[in-house]
Amino acid sequence: MMDFFQNVPKIELHAHLNGSLSNRTLLELGAMKYGKDNPGPSNDECFYRITNGQNLTLKECFQKFKYAHDLTDQPETLRYATRAVIQDFAADNVVYLELRTTPKKTVHMSKKQYLTTVLETIRTAQNEIPSITVKLLPSIDRSKGLQEAEENVSLVIELCQEYPDIIKGMDLSGAPFGTRFSDFGNILKKAQAHRLKMALHCGEFEDDDEIQAMLEFGTDRIGHGTFIKGVNLQNAKKRGIPFECCLTSNVKCSTASSYEEHHFKKLWEEGFAVCICTDDFGVFDTSLTQELRTCSEIFGLTTQDILRLQENTIRYTYANDEEKHKLTEIFNNFRKTMKID
Ligand code: 5GP
Repeated sequence: MMDFFQNVPKIELHAHLNGSLSNRTLLELGAMKYGKDNPGPSNDECFYRITNGQNLTLKECFQKFKYAHDLTDQPETLRYATRAVIQDFAADNVVYLELRTTPKKTVHMSKKQYLTTVLETIRTAQNEIPSITVKLLPSIDRSKGLQEAEENVSLVIELCQEYPDIIKGMDLSGAPFGTRFSDFGNILKKAQAHRLKMALHCGEFEDDDEIQAMLEFGTDRIGHGTFIKGVNLQNAKKRGIPFECCLTSNVKCSTASSYEEHHFKKLWEEGFAVCICTDDFGVFDTSLTQELRTCSEIFGLTTQDILRLQENTIRYTYANDEEKHKLTEIFNNFRKTMKID
């Protein structure tokens, strides 16, 4: 039987580049950097377990970020990784992707080289893999402090001139603990003044004041939004700010106690703007197809609902009007082919 979830065109708005490296890509990158006979960064047991698809503890899941960062610290491997991620999303029938990544200075690259490598790879992929449109939301890692944040915003504003069709906004992510959003507000305002959209991680932990500050700042989308409640939740609804829900990521990281208890259920049932995303499909061993299937199995969404969920998501993208129109046509064609009204 045709797999509806695989076949339905999909839109991914919350995906971190280095969290979206499949085990195969990690192995290929390992071979590129360290040689075929010794592909593990330190040939350790954990890398072997990860790339052989064995069941992982949460700690081992997070090791994947460490390996990914080590393996993408050169232009060649970063290019390869970016291309592989785009290809994997396209193979999952994702037709529109907003990718995020934190520019990193490594021994082999400046931050500018890092971002330019990703941007050029996206540009090339637009011709070579035309089934998917890809945008970039460069990230600020909160845990790296204000100076790094300033650098990232300046760099993004500079590169926006050259890549206005690809850079559409910015992300604020990384471990939030020990940092205050209010310290980042003025830095992010500079990006906002350049018409960059703000896709901030918001409400990943309980802090009503911080959530309120992010809403007042004017975040355009809400990354996760797990702990938004009360007045803040009503404000988010009133303003129609879309929530990016990442089911498996939240369950595996224990910010949601189970799929059944995930806040997506309330958001969907109460008519919030909401979309389904993978966050880090490599780290959490999932795919957008799998997340939509879970959504249907756990929350009872019909195939019509899933289609509506994807079509709604077009409005939440940072695509231009022409691109949104093309996406609408893709869904209209799918409806026709599947004989769905
Ligand atoms: P990268 O920016 O290196 O391409 O992607 C990996 C990075 O994304 C992680 O090191 C982390 O900073 C950020 N990230 C990935 N998933 C999450 C998440 O669920 N929450 C937060 N706050 N940050 C995340």
